[in-house]
Amino acid sequence: MKFSEVVGQKNVKRSLIFAKKENRIPHALLFNGPEGCGKLGLAVAFSQYINCEEPEDDDSCGTCISCLKYKKLIHPDLHFVFPLMKVSETTLVCNEFLKEWREILLADIYFTPLQWYAHIGRESKQGVIYAEEAGEIIKKLNLKTFEAEYKCMIIWLPEKMNIAAANKLLKILEEPPDKTVFILVAEETEHLLPTLLSRCQLVRIPPIKDSDLYEALQKQSEFSEHDIKNAVMLSEGNMIKAALILENSGNNQQFLENFKLLMRAAFAVNMIEIIKQTDEIASFSKEKQKDFLIFMLKVIRDNFLITEGAGTKVIHRPEEAEFSSKFHPFINQRNVFKIVEEIEKAHFHLERNGSPKIVLLDMMLSIARVIKS
Ligand SMILES: [Zn+2]
Repeated sequence: MKFSEVVGQKNVKRSLIFAKKENRIPHALLFNGPEGCGKLGLAVAFSQYINCEEPEDDDSCGTCISCLKYKKLIHPDLHFVFPLMKVSETTLVCNEFLKEWREILLADIYFTPLQWYAHIGRESKQGVIYAEEAGEIIKKLNLKTFEAEYKCMIIWLPEKMNIAAANKLLKILEEPPDKTVFILVAEETEHLLPTLLSRCQLVRIPPIKDSDLYEALQKQSEFSEHDIKNAVMLSEGNMIKAALILENSGNNQQFLENFKLLMRAAFAVNMIEIIKQTDEIASFSKEKQKDFLIFMLKVIRDNFLITEGAGTKVIHRPEEAEFSSKFHPFINQRNVFKIVEEIEKAHFHLERNGSPKIVLLDMMLSIARVIKS
C-alpha cells in the first residue's frame, strides 16, 4: 500500500517520510486518530515505505520485491495484531484469521471494528486482544528478519488489549528487539496503560480535510455533485461515514416520495392514507426504516432553516429544493421541536424493537396534530 492510496493527510505523510530520510525511525509509534481518518492505511503505507528498496521522494516505489509483497500484505516481516473474540475456551490468535484480515484490508483500508467483527461472522461480540497474542508477538519477533530492513508489527486497536496482554507488550517495548518497529493504531488512547503510552512516539492523525475527502469521493464514485457535497458536509472527515451516507443517498429519491405522501395525508388528517403510508415504511428492512427517520429529520431541519432565512446553509438535491419551496412555511418555531422530538422518539423505539407499524403510526398521528394546531 502506497501513501497515495490513503486519502489526504499530507502533513502526517510528510513527517513520516522525513523521519525515514533522517534515519530517525522510533521503535514504537502510536498512530492516534478518530474513526475513518485513515490511520491503519497510514501504518501499512509507512511500513512499506521504510522497507522499500527504491523509495521515491514522497512515496514507496510500488514495484520493488518488498513493495510487491507489501501490496498483497504477505511480506514475511510484516505482522498484524487485531482484536478477536473467544468462542468457548478455545484460544484464538490472529494467525488463524490472517486470510480474513487480508481480505478486508485489501478491499478497503477504511473500516470499523464492527465491520471487522461482521467480516469474521461475530457481529454481536466485542473484540479483545488476549494475552496469548503477546506470546505470539514475541515468537514472531524472535524470528530473524527474513528479507526486510525493518520488521513491522502493526497493532490495530491496542485499547482492546486485556490487562495481561498490555503488560506483556509493555515488557517487549521496554527492551525492543533491534530493527523492529511497532505501530499501535488507536482510536481511544484513554483506555491504554499510561506506561504503554509513554513508550510510544505519538503521531496524531486528524480527520480528513473536507477538500481532500471531496476530491477522493469524486474520483471513486458515480454519485452526483449534490450527494458528494452532502456526504462531505455530514461526515466530519470520516471516510467510513461518508461512504455510508453516499450508499444511503440512493434511497433518498424514494424517501422523498414517501415523505411527501405522509405529509399530504397528515395535512388532510386522512387516517386511511396515514395508515397506508406508515405501513409502507414499516415494510422496509429495520435499517431502512431508521434511515428513513434520519432522512425525515434532515428534511425537517432543512425546511426550518429555510423558514428562518438560513436557506444558504442547506445543501439540496434539485427535487428536494422544489419540494421545500412550497413545504418550508409549515415548519416553524411553533412546531419544529415537537416534530423532531416525535421522530427521535420513534427512532429510539425502533432501535429497541418496537413494532414498526405502531411506532410509525403513533409518530405520524402526533406530527399531524402538531402541524394542524
Ligand atoms: Zn519499493
